Amino acid sequence: MTDKYAVIGNPIEHSKSPLIHQAFAKQTKQDISYEKILAPLDGFVEKISELIKLGYKGVNITVPFKLQAFQLATKLSARAQYAGAVNTLSFNGVDIVGDNTDGAGLVRDIEDNLHIPIAGKRILLIGAGGAAEGVLHPLLACKPALLVITNRTLAKAEAMLSKVKAQTETSVCVCGLDDLHTQQFDIVINATSTGLSDTALPLPSTIFSQDCLAYDMMYGRETPFMCLARSHSAQVVDGLGMLVEQAAEAFYGWRGIRPMTPVVMLMIKEST
Ligand code: NDP
Repeated sequence: MTDKYAVIGNPIEHSKSPLIHQAFAKQTKQDISYEKILAPLDGFVEKISELIKLGYKGVNITVPFKLQAFQLATKLSARAQYAGAVNTLSFNGVDIVGDNTDGAGLVRDIEDNLHIPIAGKRILLIGAGGAAEGVLHPLLACKPALLVITNRTLAKAEAMLSKVKAQTETSVCVCGLDDLHTQQFDIVINATSTGLSDTALPLPSTIFSQDCLAYDMMYGRETPFMCLARSHSAQVVDGLGMLVEQAAEAFYGWRGIRPMTPVVMLMIKEST
């Protein structure tokens, strides 16, 4: 019996998840199907019930349903609880188990694929939406020297800070986008959606230290953030590696086998 999986979002047409998971399945000889499913904006819960009835084993969740998936889950992994959002659901016949693999995906891309240790680094995390929330705790677990959160709406960054401040030895603080001109960072992560609209963030170019890694979670296009970082000699990387690594982490959770990711990253890059 072929086990059924899918990614659910709205919109969903652009999703590369089927390509990635089908490649993982082929590589690891797993008998699974994986498709993309469009859920109506007001019909996420009904769609999940329908898929459970049809015997699906699990789904990945993308925009805008990660919060609803968090609320729907009857069991949550620790990292989903920290993130307050779910990007992976597993159906085991009894529970709807929610996980969040975004942070693990980002950390694995930076540390294993790019060979940049996070420990001891000064990190700037730009954004306070679902993606930023998902990566904050996993980044802190790597023990950076400093982590500064900045966001257009500062209150959201402050809310993120208040959730982690008491639980970490790392020096974590919030700083307005306008107040960054005196600071330099070793790793700057753009977790905003500004790349989607080609909007430039009002960032001072002085934030990039020598040998800085500028990581944009957006993939498949050169964003204004990437252009700015490139013009200040940063090492610029997009979010394709994170995408493939978070998928590998979900695949591992479902199938108990960790696929090899570099070959899949290459395939996706060549297909875009
Ligand atoms: P959300 O909608 O939850 O958050 C959007 C964030 O972007 C907020 O911090 C928001 O600030 C900020 N923002 C939006 N527009 C502007 C603007 N004009 N100027 C300044 N800041 C702005 O989105 P997500 O967190 O879910 O996703 C963020 C990005 O990460 C997306 O591009 C997504 O594609 C990418 N992503 C990539 C993944 C990967 O695997 N590579 C995985 C998950 C996400 P404010 O709070 O002020 O509104």
